[in-house]
Amino acid sequence: MIRSLLIANRGEIACRIIRTARSMGIRTVAVYSDADAKALHVRQADEAVHIGASPARESYLVGDKIIAAARATGAEAIHPGYGFLSENADFAQAVIDAGLIWVGPHPDSIRAMGLKDAAKARMIAAGVSVTPGYLGEDQSPDRLRAEVDAIGYPVLIKAVAGGGGKGMRRVDSAADFADALLSCQREAASSFGDDRVLIEKYILSPRHIEVQVFGDIQGNVVHLFERDCSLQRRHQKVIEEAPAPGMDEATRESICAAAVRAAKAVDYVGAGTIEFIADASEGLRADRIWFMEMNTRLQVEHPVTEEITGQDLVEWQLRVASGEPLPKRQDELAIDGWAMEARLYAEDPAKGFLPSTGTLEIFREHLDVRLETGVYEGAEITGFYDPMIAKIVVHEQTREGACEALARACASTDIYPVKTNAPFLWRALDDPDFRAGKIDTGFIATKGDALLPPAEPTEDMIKQAAAAVLVQEYYGEATILSFWDKDLLASRQNDPWRGALGFRLNAPDNLVVALNLEGKPHVTTLPRDWRYKQVVGEPVAAGVAVNDDGLSFLAAVSRTSGIATGTAADGAILSPMPGRIIAVAVAGGDAVAKGQNLVTLEAMKMEHSLTAPFDGTVAELNATEGGQVTEGALLVRIEKAAE
Ligand code: ADP
Repeated sequence: MIRSLLIANRGEIACRIIRTARSMGIRTVAVYSDADAKALHVRQADEAVHIGASPARESYLVGDKIIAAARATGAEAIHPGYGFLSENADFAQAVIDAGLIWVGPHPDSIRAMGLKDAAKARMIAAGVSVTPGYLGEDQSPDRLRAEVDAIGYPVLIKAVAGGGGKGMRRVDSAADFADALLSCQREAASSFGDDRVLIEKYILSPRHIEVQVFGDIQGNVVHLFERDCSLQRRHQKVIEEAPAPGMDEATRESICAAAVRAAKAVDYVGAGTIEFIADASEGLRADRIWFMEMNTRLQVEHPVTEEITGQDLVEWQLRVASGEPLPKRQDELAIDGWAMEARLYAEDPAKGFLPSTGTLEIFREHLDVRLETGVYEGAEITGFYDPMIAKIVVHEQTREGACEALARACASTDIYPVKTNAPFLWRALDDPDFRAGKIDTGFIATKGDALLPPAEPTEDMIKQAAAAVLVQEYYGEATILSFWDKDLLASRQNDPWRGALGFRLNAPDNLVVALNLEGKPHVTTLPRDWRYKQVVGEPVAAGVAVNDDGLSFLAAVSRTSGIATGTAADGAILSPMPGRIIAVAVAGGDAVAKGQNLVTLEAMKMEHSLTAPFDGTVAELNATEGGQVTEGALLVRIEKAAE
């Protein structure tokens, strides 16, 4: 068995590999760039070697530095993870030439599957059906057009050297073909240094089904069943599951057997994935599932396979790389239950999924689920690498149960101030069509705005935030566990608690506070079976970060009025949200009294009055009537009057 392992990667996959290696008694060596000096994988490894500047091409993509790091630390083997150098045959060869063990397939297997056209030709020879299309050498526009006419629109033009969803163009009619071809060739040349393309019939209602395969140097190959990765945004996987919904036993047997044939055709050793595309317009049928490509490495979504088979695929990789035979025979592998994974990304669904960077001031998952992550609370999300914060993985007995559990886990992820796709993920998981297994790769695009969270906090959320801040004031460390159900509040319209906000605190047990908006609390105890809506409040700076089903925002509350408006602690009146100034009631140098209105802000169709936190004078005034302000902008600063 390998005794020491260098992980040529970062983030969650580096941490994932370290975990298994450690459990097997293998010493681990991490490599890191400038930006990753404090990264989790560096903290977790037994040793870590700095390999260069933050951009990947100066660190994680420099094979020589990685091999030198392995030599310097006496590591016996290199695990490439996924991405970066994992499918680089020359690097694999260099590792082997340096006398190290490469935890992956033979470089020739990587090469055979590296180019989409050669891989497809090889699969045809092995009796695996491939998507109908054109794979030829002749790349002249006339020949390509003639082939497209024969295949019939719509077609997909793909870069032969493509990957990661790049270098693909769908073409629906002859009129668009020439332009699409040119732009695809341009992208292929600039991204992959190779402008050759192939043409495929564009599959309507396509589902992405892939089969996990594993080979050993003894020549055994098994499969570990299929995964469904149809839920994609712009050809990038978002939610993956195993097994595939609607897959019958005969179809499963047929595609898994094809996958094993495909792996054997390239003498495959280690973990690999055969990706298929299915025309699911009439359910999954064996004669409408075609080979798309092989990924010659561990996949991001391998945990769902681990969950349903009870196997540790990283352990399999390390055993196979050490020369051991596969840990299980095919007849010892079976599917148990249903597993689902969501990719939690640092991006803002409300703003076109723009990447969101910054410090993770809050990062907590409140449910007991498998969380694969490479970051921690307090860590930085930089713009240098993949924006994935974590993978959330659940395993239940049924698909319904898995959807439920994963939706709940996404909604109970607290992340602040970095924006995430968590509120988008649970909306997708809650969607009735998704629940019914009616999915294809166009699901997210078709559903459009229906899956998007509100761009800004709702009035309800602001009230809850106000309550959360007041609780911090009155009960110090207490955290709001839950809010009363709105319907229950409405039914109390005629009693003295009319208009009140009710919530339950973590301590003392079952304490309930009902609060009117003047901020005067009533205290009582909570009936055991109370229904509630979950909101978690955490103190941050002058306000609280409030999580409403995965959507986090900062609420800064004026302590004088008790309504979410501005922050007050040090006399700096910040705009609590983006909006427009509709009135300025003071001038620079004015003396003001505690509670006096300073500025009125219009935001989210409501007026918010920002008031003086204490007696003092207006030391700074940046608000002008009619002006637009961003969240957190300093509008007024009040200097405290001498006591
Ligand atoms: P990459 O190597 O860039 O990931 P793939 O060939 O694996 O590219 O395709 C990525 C995704 O594009 C697939 O998961 C699928 O959603 C879509 N796709 C690929 N080929 C076709 C096709 N012939 N018809 C329809 N969609 C396709």
